[in-house]
Amino acid sequence: MPVTVLLGTVPPMLAALFFANYHADLKLRQDAQENIAIKAEILANTLSWWNQTKVSTLKQLSQQPDIVSMDAERQKSVLKNLAESDKSIYLASTASLDGWNVARSDGNKPEYYGDRRWFLQAKAGKDITGQTLIGRTIKKPAICMGTPIRQESSEIVGVAMLCTELSALAEQIGQLQFGKTGYALLVDQTGKVLAHPNSAMLHGEKLNNLSQYPPITNILEGRNGFFKFKNEQDVDWVSYGISLENGWRVALIQEEAEFLRNEQELKNLTYIIALVAVITVSTLTWLLANHLIRPISQLTTAAKAITSGQLDRKVEIERQDELGILATSFNKMANRLQTSFTELEQRVRERTAELDTAKEAAENANQTKDKFLAQISHELRSPLNTIITYGTVLQEKSDLKPNLVKGLRVMRESGVYLLNLIEDILDFSKLKVSKIELNPTYLHWQSFLDGILAMIEIRAREKQLQFECEIEGKVETSIWADEKRLRQVLLNLLNNAVKFTERGKVTFRVSVLKETEELINNSPCPQQKLRFEVMDSGIGISPEHLEKIFQPFEQVSLSEQRANGTGLGLAISKQIVEMMGSQLEVQSELAMGSIFWFDLSLPVTQALPEAKDDGSVTALSSDTLKNKILIVDDKEENHLALNNILKPLGFEIVSVENGQLALEIAPFIQPDLILLDLYMPVKTGFTLMGELRKMPKFENIPIILISACSREVLQKASQHFGCEAFLTKPIEENKLLDLLEEYEMLPKHVIPI
Ligand code: ADP
Repeated sequence: MPVTVLLGTVPPMLAALFFANYHADLKLRQDAQENIAIKAEILANTLSWWNQTKVSTLKQLSQQPDIVSMDAERQKSVLKNLAESDKSIYLASTASLDGWNVARSDGNKPEYYGDRRWFLQAKAGKDITGQTLIGRTIKKPAICMGTPIRQESSEIVGVAMLCTELSALAEQIGQLQFGKTGYALLVDQTGKVLAHPNSAMLHGEKLNNLSQYPPITNILEGRNGFFKFKNEQDVDWVSYGISLENGWRVALIQEEAEFLRNEQELKNLTYIIALVAVITVSTLTWLLANHLIRPISQLTTAAKAITSGQLDRKVEIERQDELGILATSFNKMANRLQTSFTELEQRVRERTAELDTAKEAAENANQTKDKFLAQISHELRSPLNTIITYGTVLQEKSDLKPNLVKGLRVMRESGVYLLNLIEDILDFSKLKVSKIELNPTYLHWQSFLDGILAMIEIRAREKQLQFECEIEGKVETSIWADEKRLRQVLLNLLNNAVKFTERGKVTFRVSVLKETEELINNSPCPQQKLRFEVMDSGIGISPEHLEKIFQPFEQVSLSEQRANGTGLGLAISKQIVEMMGSQLEVQSELAMGSIFWFDLSLPVTQALPEAKDDGSVTALSSDTLKNKILIVDDKEENHLALNNILKPLGFEIVSVENGQLALEIAPFIQPDLILLDLYMPVKTGFTLMGELRKMPKFENIPIILISACSREVLQKASQHFGCEAFLTKPIEENKLLDLLEEYEMLPKHVIPI
């Protein structure tokens, strides 16, 4: 964290500082240049003014009448006066055109000027001419200037001359020093020194020439202004040069280090400020980290720890300021949180314990309910069975009055309805609590289909409905499905279709939608996706009822049709289809009819289903009928019921009322099938069966156990004792007939009406 603060503050601060320094630096350099330029300009102006003064003095002199007169006496007094009025003029003189002095201010004897260039130029008419030199009389640098003397006719009659010593000027310039190294110097147009701080440069017979000195060379070559150069000791210097009107050059020279001293000082100052700033910021950051960031990061760490479940984590900050208050509040909050969690955990534990108890109680209640249901169904079935059986038997008595026959029919039908209802409720409640598991096997498709068709054909015929079965595609020989449950669903849908159709037709369509190969236990297994559809042209279902029909006890049809059903069939079918991994769908229109359908992906095989334990397969046909049946039951009404079913089919029935009798009689009559009641006095069905199976003649004949109790334990036990099938009372005709078919005692599809 402190590092982040430092990284966030120091670089931008340094950048700002160096940026400001860079600009200040530029400004200072400009200022230094301007400074030296201004000094040079002032000096140049002073020199120009000085030059102008001398030039105008000379010109005025040349125009004075006494001078123009070229009279020696008159000229002499004028020249003398002039020299006396200006001390820098050490000689004022005139010369005639032959080059000899006419008059001189110093009164010396005439000198010859005819060989001087400036004299010759003035004589030739040049306005102002001049030459810098070491004055012959004064032995110091001087400038001698000449101008023509003209009469009124402009004719040149002589030359007026002024010789001015430069020592005053030189002194003035030489004194112009700035800083430790800065100085000014003046040279003439050829580079000869006229003024220099070093007076030695101004001594001697001749003027010193500086034309090879770089700053002077530079100006002489015409480059005025700023110039940078190195001296012999390789030190950097700067100069500023200006050319004057009369050809003189003035130069200001300074060592660069001094020239840029301010800039350097500013740089140093910047470095110092930067250093101080970095130290200050680092110190502040460190202090801040100690004072603010560290406690905050302690808080953060503690908050993270609490989030990860360490609720006992505390922040140790003993301060009185806001952070201290924050830490205290945080600790309080953590404490509160811990207490709440502990309470919550306690409550959860208690609630879990309560739930466990409740669950146990519910499970117990459920078991009791299951027991009760099984018990009650047994209790209800037996008397109901009796009622139905007697109802059936009595109905057939020819001497009964018609209204009694009708009453008996209603009684029988109500009994059957109640039995169905009990059966469905049991089935449904088992499905609801997932007590039913699918038990798929490879079943012979055609036989399975034929069985269903036979049953529905009869019912459709009863109602004079057209019934059609359409198979689209080729369903494989055997399909892998829970035969009982698939049949239950299809029969429910087909029965409903027949039940809710008064005219027209019912169609059962099976289509092969897709053939695939699925991997089952790592080996490819062919699968067929089959669609089962049941269509009718019946009463249909209104859209608002469509959703309801799958709910238990929902019947949306007319009351007389309702009376035939329990309202549980579709709820059960829907559950079974879902267990098979599909959905039961419906489309319907009032007065037009309905379609119910579902798709199943089923493993299929070309092989016939494996033979069952008794060597039979699902589909069998035989011409040789076996027809002797032994019924062992202690209740007369059961004998009546079974006789009622079997006799019309031409079976030879032998009825005995207890197990002992059965054991004695059986070897004599040699039955092809034995129907055995489970609960009987003297000998139970299981005991009798055990003894029968011990006799070689009865080792293999089919024995069907019959009981009013449908509990699976009994069914399993019956298998264990070696019986072929288990039927519950009242005997469902179809189931019994199915079994007879299976045992080759009935030709296929011969089902009595
Ligand atoms: P039920 O024993 O009454 O037939 P279901 O659960 O099988 O019970 O059906 C519930 C209700 O759905 C029926 O009572 C009926 O109103 C309606 N229903 C079912 N199938 C059809 C159909 N094919 N045509 C018209 N209505 C139907």
